[in-house]
Amino acid sequence: MANIGYLQVVRHCNHLCGFCSNPTTPYEHDFESMKVLVDDFVARDYFGIILTGGEPTLHADLPRIAEYARGRGLHVRMITNGSRLADPKFARSMADAGLQLVHISVYSVRPEIEAELRGTPDTLPKAFAAADAANDAGIEVNINCVINAMNADHLDEGVRHWMRHHPYIRHFVWNNLDPSMGRAEVNQDKFTPKLADFEVSLHRALRLLHKSGRTFRVEKVPLCFMTDFAWASTETRKIIKGEERIVFFLDQKQAVRQTDWEHVYAEGCAVCSLRTICGGLFDRGNGYDPAELEPVFVDRDQIARTVIEDPSDPSYGLRDLHAWRADFEKRIARAQKTRSLPVLPDAPQVGKRTERAERRFEAKRASESRKAVSQGIEMEKVDDPKV
Ligand code: SF4
Repeated sequence: MANIGYLQVVRHCNHLCGFCSNPTTPYEHDFESMKVLVDDFVARDYFGIILTGGEPTLHADLPRIAEYARGRGLHVRMITNGSRLADPKFARSMADAGLQLVHISVYSVRPEIEAELRGTPDTLPKAFAAADAANDAGIEVNINCVINAMNADHLDEGVRHWMRHHPYIRHFVWNNLDPSMGRAEVNQDKFTPKLADFEVSLHRALRLLHKSGRTFRVEKVPLCFMTDFAWASTETRKIIKGEERIVFFLDQKQAVRQTDWEHVYAEGCAVCSLRTICGGLFDRGNGYDPAELEPVFVDRDQIARTVIEDPSDPSYGLRDLHAWRADFEKRIARAQKTRSLPVLPDAPQVGKRTERAERRFEAKRASESRKAVSQGIEMEKVDDPKV
């Protein structure tokens, strides 16, 4: 399977998004502590690594760890807000280090909305420049967008912008907001969308991309809100292919392994034809309403076939529907007996809690708290008892 692991390089950031699910912590990495985690992915036969954060470009050893991961045979990717990547020299240094793909995160192409969501003015021109700089340096560029209450009605506007001005971008990822962690948890009223709020604009965005021959994935959206493009659901693809994901959190959660992609279901889901391949409602934070879910009656196996026969995704070995069905039934039976534990017991330590990291955390939290007041957002709870 083409498993891809996440390594949080830092947890601080130069933006202050009101729905950040991974805000600043008093932990930090040095090159050696990241190297151990790269080796762990290699030992587990992972296909690739995503360097993320916080804002990963704020770590001085980012090019070095990218180079090390590439040297160990991993496909190297990064998620960034683009603020540093806009510098062509930095983009070139990351390409030289082995970075192959970058996900630039942009929520809205309306400048005033993007500024409010990021808690920082004038970020859009840098994100656009970052896309061009990465592309010029030979790094593949994808766009990531968190669906939230403020961009829910114009997701397709972003697609039109990117297609017109940055036509080399061929892949897009939408993540519906995770209301369970960090600042997203305490600012649910402001940022968590209703599913119905984005259904139409998401559909318009996906239709535009599909027509243009571009590809996309959608995360944390129940299939009844994207039935025409169910094969593009990240959870559905992982359920169909039996993939896992490990995240090395630079906080007290440490290493988390996800093999169970099912979340919350409504009573009506029991009769839905997509129940066995649907991740349901991502509702760990009670931010969404299960009453929005409506069973659908479409051909599940047609969706499975689209996923396992996808020529752009060679990660699934069994390319025949009958073989997939037999394999899938076995996996479902096994999963019902042994629901996986999210914590990875044999994982190495993720980063360190040092005096320097504690000092930076305290200073950062003080400055972010002041900024949060002026933005009208709440700061995340600090749930680590040592802080
Ligand atoms: S009704 Fe339930 S199982 Fe069916 S697509 Fe919606 S969330 Fe998924």
